[in-house]
Amino acid sequence: MKKAGLWIISVLCGFMALIGLFSLPASWGLLFFIIPALLFNPKFQDFLSNRKFEITKTMAIAAVVLPLVTTMVSAATSPQSTSSTQFASSMAATVSSTPSSSITASSDSPSTAGSSSNATTTSLASSAVPQVNRSSSPAPSSGAKLKVHYMDVGQGDSEFLELPNKQTMLIDAGNSDNGTQIVSYIKALGYNKIDYLIATHPHADHIGGMATVVSKLNIGKIYMPKKSTNTKTYEKLLVAIQNKGLKIHTAKAGVNIVKVGNLNIDIMAPVYITGDDLNEYSAVIKVTYGNNKFLFMGDAGEESERQITADVKADVLKVGHHGSKTSTSQSFLNKVKPKYAVIEVGAGNSYGHPTSAALTRLQNIGATIYRTDKDGTIVFTSDSKTITVNKKASSIKQNAP
Ligand SMILES: [Zn+2]
Repeated sequence: MKKAGLWIISVLCGFMALIGLFSLPASWGLLFFIIPALLFNPKFQDFLSNRKFEITKTMAIAAVVLPLVTTMVSAATSPQSTSSTQFASSMAATVSSTPSSSITASSDSPSTAGSSSNATTTSLASSAVPQVNRSSSPAPSSGAKLKVHYMDVGQGDSEFLELPNKQTMLIDAGNSDNGTQIVSYIKALGYNKIDYLIATHPHADHIGGMATVVSKLNIGKIYMPKKSTNTKTYEKLLVAIQNKGLKIHTAKAGVNIVKVGNLNIDIMAPVYITGDDLNEYSAVIKVTYGNNKFLFMGDAGEESERQITADVKADVLKVGHHGSKTSTSQSFLNKVKPKYAVIEVGAGNSYGHPTSAALTRLQNIGATIYRTDKDGTIVFTSDSKTITVNKKASSIKQNAP
């Protein structure tokens, strides 16, 4: 073969090997392209022949076949997201390494949230490449309704979305005694499946009822932030997910969950992953349907609010952390400019939620405030242009604070 041709092959193969190196461990098979890169390199061939070493035809063929095979093998075996089996094993590690695994996260107040998660926090959620669900989501037909149910689960969070494309989404599932009630509520609406299940963060007032939801309903995709804790509640959820053979996708800023027609569901936070405050890892979800926008904050606080750079302007804001004073900062509200604010909170809770500081800031921005402790379950309906609000008598039992 001509020298120029050999150089081209050598450089190309070297380039492939470099790609393999920079995409480790996903595409490790590409690393084997270093072999043809060397064998076909005229300089290296001179070097070998000086040492009386001849490259045979078999060696040349092997040098080409080997990297091709390893590339295919690495592509086939490289995990796209953490499987439930990996989950189970890391979970087992968490359980066995901590004698304190019997603590149940019963509090999510800012002062105790940090300490309860200090012990052994391992990252269990997957480091999956963001997966866009374009192909399997049908587009909404014109005039279809988006219904958002802010469920009264006492001192906790749970929002059920009937999407205009006939799919469903559940963000959080209240406390453990809310699980059955949430399942009944969803079934009464005529659904057996949750296409997108989001655990904003692993506190018991958000994931408490989720194990029941996972075991009783059909589940599509699950999203959780890459932050775990060692509570019984969290372990129970992971076991339920594992039993169904489901995968967990990482909830982080920039991930798109749905993009069909004029329906868009994006994850705005967590942006950075730092510190031990589980609340700040909350998945913040933005649902855009035509001209109407809904923002769900989980228990995100000022730190996360500061880090979000994406457009957060929304008509309806699910207020962060049950109206805690360390959430819903003025500068964030100035960006969201909500017309409506929904606070999910239990009557007479021991945290003093919602705080007068948060309520004042919401009033000053001109938002109409709805509270599950006063209004029960609240349903917002959007036809992509206008939003209507419907307060219902609570069909989810009040949870004692
Ligand atoms: Zn909470």
